[in-house]
Amino acid sequence: MLLCSLAWFLFRASGNAQTVTIPVVVHVIWHSPEENISEEQILSQIDALNRDFQSLNDQSIVPPGFRSLVANTGIGFCLAARDPEGKATTGIVRRQTSIPQIASASSGGLRSICYTELGGSDAWNPDHYLNIWVGSFGGLWVGEASPPLSEIPAEDGIRIDPRYFGTLGTATAPYNLGHSLTHETGHYLGLLHPWGTDNDNINCEGDDGIADTPRQSKSYYGECPQGGFTCGTPDMTMNFMNWSDDACVAMFTKGQKNKMWETLNGSRKSLLQSENLCSATALPPPPAQTPLITVYPNPGRQVFTLQMKKEATEELQLFDASGRLILRLSPKTRQFDLSGHPAGIYYLKAGRQVLKIACLPD
Ligand SMILES: [Zn+2]
Repeated sequence: MLLCSLAWFLFRASGNAQTVTIPVVVHVIWHSPEENISEEQILSQIDALNRDFQSLNDQSIVPPGFRSLVANTGIGFCLAARDPEGKATTGIVRRQTSIPQIASASSGGLRSICYTELGGSDAWNPDHYLNIWVGSFGGLWVGEASPPLSEIPAEDGIRIDPRYFGTLGTATAPYNLGHSLTHETGHYLGLLHPWGTDNDNINCEGDDGIADTPRQSKSYYGECPQGGFTCGTPDMTMNFMNWSDDACVAMFTKGQKNKMWETLNGSRKSLLQSENLCSATALPPPPAQTPLITVYPNPGRQVFTLQMKKEATEELQLFDASGRLILRLSPKTRQFDLSGHPAGIYYLKAGRQVLKIACLPD
C-alpha cells in the first residue's frame, strides 16, 4: 500500500494526466471454505490492479519495439470505504452459498451470483461502484466482465474465480499474478481482445479498433509465447488483453488507455463522481440512484400499480425470471395485470432502474 500511495503522489505531482480512483466492492461468494478467501488475498489483488493500470508492474518482458507504447492509464482502484447508504465499510461482502460453482450457475437466465435471492449477493449501485464477484466457475472460465452498456444493471461488473484472483492464498499458476482481473477490467472499460470479437481470426480481419495494438490471428491461450508473429507484424503477446499466462503479460497501450477514458467519460461517467466513496471521512456519497418508479403491492397478486417520481420517458419493459420480455408498457402506464402469468419473480426495467416484482399465486 505504501508503494501505491507513493506512486500516486509522484503521479499527481507530475500533473500531466487525468486521474481517477474507482471504488470497488468485492463480493466473496463461497461454497467450500477455501473459496472464502482472505482479506490479504483481496488486498494483493487490488494492489496488483493498481500496479498494472499505473504501469508500475514488472515490464522487463516488453520488447524494445513496444516500449514506447506502454501507458500509465491514470486509473486507480480502491476498496470502497463507504457503502451505498454512506456507512463505513471494508468494501468486502462475504456470503456462504449452498450452490457449488456459483459463478457458473444461472436461474431463469439470470446469473445467480449477482442476486442475494439466488444464492449470490446483490450488486451495489453499479453507477458508483465496480462490483467484483469472486466465486467458483468450476474450471469453466477464469473470469468474465460486463462490457459498457450491458443489458442488466443488476449484473454489471466482473465475475472471477478465486483461483485466479490476487497473488497469494488460493491464487493458482499460471494465473496467479493478478493480471486476470486487469484483463477483465479492461473489458469492463470497453477494451476487446487484440483479435477482435471473433476467436477464430485466421484471416486477420478481426481487430480491436485500437490503432497501436497490432492485429493478430492467435489468442495465445495458456502459453507464454516467445516472439509471436501473425498478420504480417509482431504480435503484442504481452498485452494484458491477450490470453497469455500471467507471467507473460505486462502492458496496456496508449490507444487502449484512450479507449478506457472514452468509456469513463461516456457510459461509465458516473464512476468519475464516485471517488469520495474511497474514503470513510470524505464527503457523503452521491445520492443513490433516485428510484423513478415504485410498484405496489409487492409482493402482490394479478394487478400491480406503478407510482412514478417523475414521468418516465422511455417504454417500460417487464421480463420474466428467464429474461424473456413479456410486456411492453407505455411510460404513461399506471397499472398492469399479471393474471394469466405464472406466479414468480418478474423484473420491470425503467431506464437504468430494474425493479424486482414478486407475483404470488392467485
Ligand atoms: Zn477476455
